[in-house]
Amino acid sequence: MISNKIQDALNEQINAELWSAYLYLSMGMHFEAEGCKGLANWFKVQFKEEQAHAEIFMNYLNSRGGRVVLKAIDAVETKWDSPLAAFEATLAHEQKVTAMINNLYALAMDEHDYATRGKLDWFVSEQVEEEETARDLVDRLKLIGNDGLALYTLDQELGARTYNVPSPLAGK
Ligand code: MG
Repeated sequence: MISNKIQDALNEQINAELWSAYLYLSMGMHFEAEGCKGLANWFKVQFKEEQAHAEIFMNYLNSRGGRVVLKAIDAVETKWDSPLAAFEATLAHEQKVTAMINNLYALAMDEHDYATRGKLDWFVSEQVEEEETARDLVDRLKLIGNDGLALYTLDQELGARTYNVPSPLAGK
């Protein structure tokens, strides 16, 4: 069995991952409307990844005999001033998620819940990647500035991103 404290914290994390999914879907829809199909694709892939993160936590909580409780998902913004603004918001959000994962890790240690602590290792590494990717795109968009052709080229590149099932979900 899993402690109530850890179960509540995991349910909070599931809600946060679903909120992340909702945020990136909103960004995808924004860029779709703006005619930036590559950016839209990138955020729609990100939306799927965040749903997968929630699913990994849900599978885990179920595997420990816990109870998944799906809460209301708060509204998200619907418009961003520029691609740079969207990726700056993405980086800031991922930094918050990293802090949440770290808090969860600390809680699992406090509670002597080593199974949960172990499960979080994958997420610790995943957050390093999430932040690195967002930071890289922020840097590139700063370099691009108002260069329309460079933005078009980046949009083409981001249009090639495809969704890969995260390893903890492979075969599930
Ligand atoms: Mg996530």
